[in-house]
Amino acid sequence: MHRVSIERVGSYDRELVRAGMERLLAPLGGMGAFVSPGDRVLLKPNMLAAKTPDKAVTTHPELLRAAIGLVQAAGGIALVGDSPGIGGIRKVAERSGMLAVVEETGAELVAFEETEEVAGSGMFRRFELARPYLEADRIINLPKLKTHEMMTMTCAVKNLFGAVVGTAKAGWHLKAGADREQFARMLLEIYLLRPPVLNIVDAVVAMEGNGPGSGDPKPVGLLLAGTNAVALDVIAAEIAGIPRNLLYVERAARELRVDGADRNRIETVGADLDEVRVPLRLPHISDVQFGLPPFLKNRLRHYLTSRPVQKDEACALCGVCRDACPPRAIEIRDGRLVFDYHSCIRCFCCRELCPHNALDVREGSAMRLVRRLRRGR
Ligand code: SF4
Ligand code: SF4
Repeated sequence: MHRVSIERVGSYDRELVRAGMERLLAPLGGMGAFVSPGDRVLLKPNMLAAKTPDKAVTTHPELLRAAIGLVQAAGGIALVGDSPGIGGIRKVAERSGMLAVVEETGAELVAFEETEEVAGSGMFRRFELARPYLEADRIINLPKLKTHEMMTMTCAVKNLFGAVVGTAKAGWHLKAGADREQFARMLLEIYLLRPPVLNIVDAVVAMEGNGPGSGDPKPVGLLLAGTNAVALDVIAAEIAGIPRNLLYVERAARELRVDGADRNRIETVGADLDEVRVPLRLPHISDVQFGLPPFLKNRLRHYLTSRPVQKDEACALCGVCRDACPPRAIEIRDGRLVFDYHSCIRCFCCRELCPHNALDVREGSAMRLVRRLRRGR
């Protein structure tokens, strides 16, 4: 049986979070069950972009502070690392409030720059992962619960994509990102290569709508913890009211029989699951390619799935989206963004990383037509 602990924490008040995290971990044996004196413990928060904590894009700094405190109290050496989607780790840590926490607690900020090659265990032959991620004695995953335009939800498993360094992320989007089911398998393989010993989810304030970078903060008032990231995601999705058929990672985990995907083998402890559900508004993205064979998916993507479009008034023409686009499907021409929608793999990295929230989504033409016909009935 996998155990997922659920604890109510109503705000990011420092003392509330610290005490809440202790209660959260007690049914799992406390931090001492995961960290031994002298262990170098890598804490992996969500450091997607340089956003302030109120935007709910990154793991809240008070959650990081509480986790560092417990690691240090158990005798561990706390390291904090990630590979942000945009900007250097120092800039992201500073803006998100995590740098101050690192400095005040005496932890060490670790940039994911150097990589090491590891053999894949499934459909992908090799991965290059951040060396500090592979070399740490223990990994503690600190994801933020958010909706996700490409994968519907990001939580414990998806947060570990940060172990892929900087620009290599775009390469993986290109290799596997055109097909969400394949991308989910890739995420699971990364998780299985180096599973964290513990996952602690920041769901005090989650993100709903067009996450993971442009959604709206949504108070959920919870911390979740568990040793199995897949099982934790299953419970997080239940709390968030996300239908299982939209959870690509969970579907892939069930198909591949990855440990943690069987709901009958997950128990929850702490707060009553039925009393803490807070449905999250899902991203405004349509993708009706489920079940189609890959060659049809590629041909029909243009007509069936939503696509990114420029919001003229908000766009600063900074070029961040163009530079981040895995298949190079964006150009800046005559003072406008020009998209090549036939190359676009609908990964929505452009929306995720745009610093000005200047990209919108528009439904595919076939979906618009279906909707018009329905309205005309
Ligand atoms: S859409 Fe955003 S990221 Fe792209 S050029 Fe405009 S402001 Fe920059
Ligand atoms: S245009 Fe945006 S959604 Fe399309 S491939 Fe590029 S980054 Fe991904």
